[in-house]
Amino acid sequence: MIILAVESSCDETAVALVRDGRTVLADCIASSVEMHRIYGGVVPEIASRKHIEVIAQLADQALEQAGLSRGDIDAVAVTYAPGLIGAVLVGVSFAKSVAYALGVPLIPVHHVRGHIAANYLAHPDLEPPFVCLCVSGGTSLLVDVKGYTEMEILGATRDDAAGECFDKIARVMGLGYPGGAPLDRAAQGGNDKAFSLPRVHIQDAPLDMSFSGLKTAMLNLIHNAQQKGEELPVADLAASFSAAVSEELVPRTMAAAQAKGYGKVAVVGGVAANSRIRRDLEQACQAAGCTLYLPPLKLCGDNGSMIGSQGYYEYLAGTRAGTDLNAYANREISRPYGTGTAPVF
Ligand code: ATP
Ligand code: MG
Ligand code: FE
Repeated sequence: MIILAVESSCDETAVALVRDGRTVLADCIASSVEMHRIYGGVVPEIASRKHIEVIAQLADQALEQAGLSRGDIDAVAVTYAPGLIGAVLVGVSFAKSVAYALGVPLIPVHHVRGHIAANYLAHPDLEPPFVCLCVSGGTSLLVDVKGYTEMEILGATRDDAAGECFDKIARVMGLGYPGGAPLDRAAQGGNDKAFSLPRVHIQDAPLDMSFSGLKTAMLNLIHNAQQKGEELPVADLAASFSAAVSEELVPRTMAAAQAKGYGKVAVVGGVAANSRIRRDLEQACQAAGCTLYLPPLKLCGDNGSMIGSQGYYEYLAGTRAGTDLNAYANREISRPYGTGTAPVF
């Protein structure tokens, strides 16, 4: 079964063709990141307009890359939540039109479920159940992936997402935007014990996370140094910060894995590209005798292939949308499409 997959929840416009949820036939992506750089964050209106400009061309490009024609498409999958509402709407409208015109099913996909599925593309042997740490620009979640379409939240951030925190700290350190990758590079060779940063424990919710205290502590360190006219110890700050974020994430992931007893741990999302977090997880999983599933760097950030993979499993589970499909800025990962009460506008 060949799925045309559409992703437009943030600043990446992505269209992919995926066979049977596991084989990528084409993966086309365009990003408006350069246009957001001068603002230090994604400007939703600009992202939406760029999606509109490029989305149809990307779909043609994907067909060309795969050597397929429109008649080969068996279904259309699209991110319908969560994300920047105007941005998600562009992908949803495009996917609806394509599905309607071709007379094929339309499959709504939760964006973070898509991130989880990135590992199905990278690891043909990976099957649920497993515990998955989802860490990206807008999400920090520990998920019990009980089945391909059955998920339960085990822990979540109480405030900022890990990626958001990386971006904010990198910005004040003058490392540019988006800051996760440059901060990761800046941390190489730095002393991760140079600064003592707060660690969080949330009473009665040991798997929940918090990054706001860590962010404030970092901002204070940086502002104090700047006020005194001192040169910022960039490498040491970046290394200490990366270690602190990793310590927030890795022990909780291992505790969740132990509680579930699956012996399989996965990590996904943009922050899964972080070298410190990858290294710490590798060591922790080895010590615990768990198998670790990490996506390659190009499947960590937003892409269309992951939506095509999850779309296939949603299709098998019977998930379908009609031409009344809407976009949602927020939606729980555990909630299947079409269930629960409709939001009030
Ligand atoms: P969500 O998936 O929650 O809707 P998003 O789609 O904006 O959010 P992604 O594209 O999955 O997020 O990930 C982008 C985030 O990953 C950014 O915050 C970016 O800084 C972060 N990131 C990318 N590479 C690294 C790295 N090496 N270390 C830490 N963070 C990183
Ligand atoms: Mg992005
Ligand atoms: Fe994402």
